[in-house]
Amino acid sequence: MKKDTAIRYLVDAQGNPQGVYLEEEFWQQVCAHVLGQLEKLFPVEPILQEPLNDFELLKKYWDLRYDLPTDVHCDSCGNSSSDWQGDEPRKFILRAANMGGLLSFQCQCCNARVTKCHFKDKVTVTCTPHPSCACASR
Ligand SMILES: [Zn+2]
Repeated sequence: MKKDTAIRYLVDAQGNPQGVYLEEEFWQQVCAHVLGQLEKLFPVEPILQEPLNDFELLKKYWDLRYDLPTDVHCDSCGNSSSDWQGDEPRKFILRAANMGGLLSFQCQCCNARVTKCHFKDKVTVTCTPHPSCACASR
């Protein structure tokens, strides 16, 4: 590594600054600091709020003959909970709920989407693997 080539300033055809190019060897020395700085500027977003109001509405107007089930199971990775709200840490995050009896969860293990539809006489469950999950395409 040479000092005069370790950092190169990139410009476009009009000469406007576009960024900085760091030689790999130099990058290795400063990346921890740079990435740490980036993390400070863009902190990891807090967990998305769950649509609990919608869930409360579903519970309030629940008129089926069975109790609203609390169990969730992910067919994609085998993650399972008997009470999705009671896990610590949470295994499933509620992503959608509606009064029609639909509940949709995100598996915290593999990001699959588990959707439960509650009907008068049955509950259907579908599990859609996360698109980036390589195991689903094998
Ligand atoms: Zn899963």
